[in-house]
Amino acid sequence: MFHYMAGWATKIEGNTITLSVPYMPGAGFHAYTLREPIGVIAQIIPWNFPLLMAAWKLAPALATGNTVILKPAEQTPLTALRLAELIAEAGIPDGVVNVLPGYGESAGAALAAHDDVDKVAFTGSTEVGKLIVQAAAGNLKKVTLELGGKSPNIVLDDADPDIAIQGAANAIFFNHGQCCVAGSRLFIQEDRFDQVVEGVAGIARGIKLGPGLEPGTQMGPLVSDEQLQRVTGYLDSGRDEGAHTVVGGSRHGEQGYFVQPTVLIGAHPSTKVVREEIFGPVVVASPFSDLDQIAAEANDTTYGLGAGIWTRDISKAHALASRIRAGTVWINCYNVFDAALPFGGYKQSGWGREMGHEVLEAYTEVKAVCTQL
Ligand code: ADP
Repeated sequence: MFHYMAGWATKIEGNTITLSVPYMPGAGFHAYTLREPIGVIAQIIPWNFPLLMAAWKLAPALATGNTVILKPAEQTPLTALRLAELIAEAGIPDGVVNVLPGYGESAGAALAAHDDVDKVAFTGSTEVGKLIVQAAAGNLKKVTLELGGKSPNIVLDDADPDIAIQGAANAIFFNHGQCCVAGSRLFIQEDRFDQVVEGVAGIARGIKLGPGLEPGTQMGPLVSDEQLQRVTGYLDSGRDEGAHTVVGGSRHGEQGYFVQPTVLIGAHPSTKVVREEIFGPVVVASPFSDLDQIAAEANDTTYGLGAGIWTRDISKAHALASRIRAGTVWINCYNVFDAALPFGGYKQSGWGREMGHEVLEAYTEVKAVCTQL
């Protein structure tokens, strides 16, 4: 991320613009735009990928000439503090990058509301994203948001089953499902439904849970007791609302915040496990019959962050991709990120984009300079 964004630092450009100004006949003008830093940027990041989120946020802000106050999540401040030491060692002038650990409701809220902060860039829950917007209203600071998701992952009947099954499992179980783009709604075309559900359940059964430092562990605990309660609460609600558990469905062991990788089927589209972001290793699988139906079902969510499509039919893949209302659509892959690929959400998954050249717009103001000759 720092390499890629460092390349942009020398390529921040404006335009020259030819004016007509019809009410000033005969006048000549020289007009151009400048892209300038926004100023002081507050960046508030979550705990699920602590160092990566810091890099995603810091690199573009610095490449465009801003100064930053970065607030890591209260659960995970250490990597950001170490990064700050390295940044100081690398010779970035004092005051350009400031890491401010603290709680969300105190340090985070104060940054979002502060009159001397020119922009707040936030990654976290949609609920807190809405609080950030309200807090930012005081001085109308710029806001970009990367929020939650309930991303559809769609397996068509012509997909390579082995690739789709492995892909669907990775899409939800990577990082214990504590990913904003987790493929948590798995839609499978009818003829393949049993095979794909059984395949993903088989992978779930085989995942070795344990402490992260223990050799052979494939899935560690969730981040906190709060997260454990939240995820197991959703498992209970899924059962209460009529979903059937194919595999998993509860806490793993008595100690630690371990949750079994879980596959649910038969959940009604209106239930909480289908509609709300669980942020744990829990996927809800449903069958579908035709492509028109699936585009509507996939879009039947307040979110719009990611989506996956698994098929060998290139026409169907791109036709469906164009109908999905999400910031990223992966075809025959999932969770592929690159510094050059813009990332962000439609609908309540966010405002603006991170990465790629799109992010430069989120960290610059445009100044139009107009001279009469
Ligand atoms: P999660 O639910 O994944 O913990 P949050 O949205 O609660 O995600 O937290 C993401 C980040 O937002 C963290 O750095 C947290 O401290 C911060 N945060 C939480 N509440 C607020 C708030 N009211 N104002 C500003 N930042 C907040």
